[in-house]
Amino acid sequence: MRDYSNVPVLILLGPPGAGKGTQAKVLEDQFGLVQLSTGDLLRQAVAAGTPAGKAAKSVMDSGGLVSDEIVINILRDRLADPDCAAGVILDGFPRTIPQAEALSELLASYGSQVHAAISLEVQDDAMVERISGRHTCDGCGEGYHETFKRPVVDGTCDKCGGQKFRRRADDNPETVRRRLVAYHNETAPLIAFYEKSGTLEALDAMGDIAAITEALRQIVRPIVVDVRGVHAASKNSKTAQMEETQ
Ligand code: AMP
Repeated sequence: MRDYSNVPVLILLGPPGAGKGTQAKVLEDQFGLVQLSTGDLLRQAVAAGTPAGKAAKSVMDSGGLVSDEIVINILRDRLADPDCAAGVILDGFPRTIPQAEALSELLASYGSQVHAAISLEVQDDAMVERISGRHTCDGCGEGYHETFKRPVVDGTCDKCGGQKFRRRADDNPETVRRRLVAYHNETAPLIAFYEKSGTLEALDAMGDIAAITEALRQIVRPIVVDVRGVHAASKNSKTAQMEETQ
């Protein structure tokens, strides 16, 4: 079993549409962390037609939560991949108290723990609009929004030049409302769970995306530096260089 004691483990909490995926990608680039999105992993399982994907599909389409067992197994397998030794940012996991408990146990078996659970605080009313306008580039997965983040050249991806975009099947107003109900019933209790363990950080996530990113960076940077013990580590390491440039 690998030793993850110097591996930062961060969680982004928040309802659908709060910007977890967008912000996780930024943190991934800036701090060399690996974004672990159980939603993405489940969509891959659905596309690949695995037994887990087959069991998850109808639940996902309806806006409910996939069983803890399936999601925990998917996360456990992914966390064992060597790239996760760079540090992880969990996006969309945990979503229930049993998942949070399973995560603590899993991390403990690696000699690690959750270092911060960052709650992106938003108003529900705005989430339906935010989600209904979002879409991603088919080629590279870059995220866009009809109102808040359009490509520089209409219809062309800024990142890869692709011209095909896709919307998620569950990003329609009716399903989004059900996903918000699931969030409040099952996931919101995690805020108190992580507050109790002293790892909760709350962030107002209603404003400008760049300003939220900057505020998030201010929270994340000292945690990542501290966990990695970067000051004691070799200045030649890729990680140290990456953080020195921030
Ligand atoms: P997301 O991409 O995080 O919005 O997730 C899309 C859908 O995948 C959710 O609406 C759930 O049906 C399912 N899902 C993703 N992560 C979890 C999780 N941790 N627990 C249960 N269901 C999940």
